[in-house]
Amino acid sequence: MAENKTPSPRRCTHCGRVVHDTVHYRDAYVVDFHFLYTGEVEMDALWDAHAAVTRVVVHVRNPRFVFTCVDCYALPKVRHERQRLLRPEVEDAP
Ligand SMILES: [Zn+2]
Repeated sequence: MAENKTPSPRRCTHCGRVVHDTVHYRDAYVVDFHFLYTGEVEMDALWDAHAAVTRVVVHVRNPRFVFTCVDCYALPKVRHERQRLLRPEVEDAP
């Protein structure tokens, strides 16, 4: 017997409300959330002898999936938090 699994709804990481996909109309669209994929990164430089170039591979360690509803996105505190998650080196700089 097949299970009837309904995927759990996506929720705002900040306030917990359910967020909905963007709805497109003929002349407009309505966005309900913004998505951020981030995490610690590790870079590897690999020599590609065939192409004679160095390729940089970025590995995302401990990935984070941040959903931000449009209500929270309007809050400066939330936007600052998202910016810190996206570019922690900016805030860590002396
Ligand atoms: Zn929210």
